[in-house]
Amino acid sequence: MAVLKVIRMGNPILREKAEAVSMEELKSPAFKTLIDDMFESMEAHQGIGLAAPQIGVSKQLAIIGIPEDNPRYPDAPETEQYIIINPKIKVLDTKLQGFWEGCLSVPGLRGYVERSRKLQIDFTTLEGKSERLVVEGFVATVFQHELDHLEGKLYIDRIKDTRKLVFNEEYDVFIARDEDDDEEDDKKIV
Ligand code: ZN
Repeated sequence: MAVLKVIRMGNPILREKAEAVSMEELKSPAFKTLIDDMFESMEAHQGIGLAAPQIGVSKQLAIIGIPEDNPRYPDAPETEQYIIINPKIKVLDTKLQGFWEGCLSVPGLRGYVERSRKLQIDFTTLEGKSERLVVEGFVATVFQHELDHLEGKLYIDRIKDTRKLVFNEEYDVFIARDEDDDEEDDKKIV
């Protein structure tokens, strides 16, 4: 296994629509190695999701897994580890929820993004089967963020108020602290 380099905003691969993964490719040992390396890389960079384009592979593949006590998102709920291949998203609740997002491909920054609260994802598993997942809340935001990478989109594209794009250190000092004091605010910070 290997920790892979995460490419950063400016690399055109992050702006491409990723290619579907074929069944043949899915079954290859190289594909399993790629996924193992992606998990190792995600953990090394303390990420909670990683899309294949972020390591320079323009394929419809993303992994998501929120461990307990993740230092970048300390309030996020723990989840199992998902491997999502060739996904199709359907929005189940058009109401929006806002979270402060970060991205390993846009290091050092956080931005406030509003996304759908609940969605259904149809995808192919590593075994080549079709599976359906329904996710909501913060986990739905993580899925939308990662699956956006497969469409060549970054979270910064979805920031409506660019005053809400800030550096991590300033986020900690000026935003996380204030939000902790404001229990009325339903716009959770993670
Ligand atoms: Zn990202």
